[in-house]
Amino acid sequence: MLTPGEPAETLRTEAEVESALGQATPAVARAIEDCLQGRDPSEPQVVDLFRTGETDYRVLLKAADFLRWRTVGDDVTYVVNRNINFTNVCVKRCGFCAFSRTAASTEGYHLPPEEIVRRTLEAERYGASEVCIQAGLPPGMDGRYYIDLCRTVKEAAPSIHLHAFSPEEILYGSRQSRLSIHDYLRELKEAGIGSLPGTSAEILDDRVRKIIAPGRISTDQWIKVITTAHSLGIPTSSTIMYGHLETPLHRARHLLLLRDLQRRTHGFTEFVPLSFIHSEAPMFADRRIPGIRAGASRSEVLKMHAVARLVLNGDIPNIQASWVKEGLDLGQACLQSGANDFGGTLMNESISTAAGAPHGQLVRPRDLRRRIRQVGRTPALRSTLYAILRRFPDESQDGQDPLDTLDAGRKDPFGSYHQLIQQEEFRFSSGGSRQNP
Ligand code: SF4
Repeated sequence: MLTPGEPAETLRTEAEVESALGQATPAVARAIEDCLQGRDPSEPQVVDLFRTGETDYRVLLKAADFLRWRTVGDDVTYVVNRNINFTNVCVKRCGFCAFSRTAASTEGYHLPPEEIVRRTLEAERYGASEVCIQAGLPPGMDGRYYIDLCRTVKEAAPSIHLHAFSPEEILYGSRQSRLSIHDYLRELKEAGIGSLPGTSAEILDDRVRKIIAPGRISTDQWIKVITTAHSLGIPTSSTIMYGHLETPLHRARHLLLLRDLQRRTHGFTEFVPLSFIHSEAPMFADRRIPGIRAGASRSEVLKMHAVARLVLNGDIPNIQASWVKEGLDLGQACLQSGANDFGGTLMNESISTAAGAPHGQLVRPRDLRRRIRQVGRTPALRSTLYAILRRFPDESQDGQDPLDTLDAGRKDPFGSYHQLIQQEEFRFSSGGSRQNP
């Protein structure tokens, strides 16, 4: 079993791989071997990989680490970015979401465009190359709100990469504006959007979606938004949320679906496994869904990253370990099990924090670099689209990022979600979301 922070026992030669595979059960060894040889695993083989027991599991993680090393080398990338979740007021009630509030809630907030711009400019001053804007779906929103917001932010900060609006938000914006998804995305592109987060995917199976989030964007609609974005030259990330109700078969189908979409469009920048944070999630708290689980176990998390590496390696070579969901210790173990990216600094993480994730709202670049080095790898600063901006092979040459010096020791120097929902200054009023920036 991997210990966070310690280099894993690694495989680096074909002979070592062969010897490790000899310890696995024949079916699992064959599935791993197929992936290592670039042959597509079948759906039952991927299910078998997710079901591996103790011995096979150790071989699986080591093989995924080998494949990561052979494909993308020892760099671990990260991005300096800021999340701006500009409102928590939402017309939907997804069962896993502890972030959203109703329009009548006394904890509803809505940041005006000038505050979103202020946060963007502040992020830039602290070295961010990206802002990630996602939020609830406020009732009665002017359909052009997202387009106008894009334009406003890009006019104020032309160099910032705008990674914004989940497929659920794109669908909402297009409906509210009565534009087709294609035309809505085209206008967003003209307004300066750089990429979309491939969130709101959870498990791309409508039977599961209807149970955990009735009324959520459907699988077909998610695919439509993503493939249309890709056809317009707007890249997206890809995600899965697991550890709730899904089975190994759902996970396998989800990965294979993403792989097949990527072969058609080539628009995914990365795959980000997101484990379900249960503590504040309504569907866990009220026990209304029989069989709902309290998130993924440690071994399930590592397995997810390892299987993703094996299945997606040739099509989506960037596999992200999310410190927000897993914490930095388990995140390091993910880096030793197939992942090659540590995500972003975030500055204002709200959605997982609201759901009860205890890992904070910001990780400073020097802390990400330290954690990366602890597992024997080389930190590399990247752009949203995975251009390497700077490698850090020698710690003594690192210098200091503006974020590293900011209020050292203060936990939430950019404020917290819990402060935000108490602040009267940004209280949601039903007129606010209808105004254009
Ligand atoms: S996940 Fe998004 S769409 Fe669903 S309730 Fe939360 S904010 Fe709304």
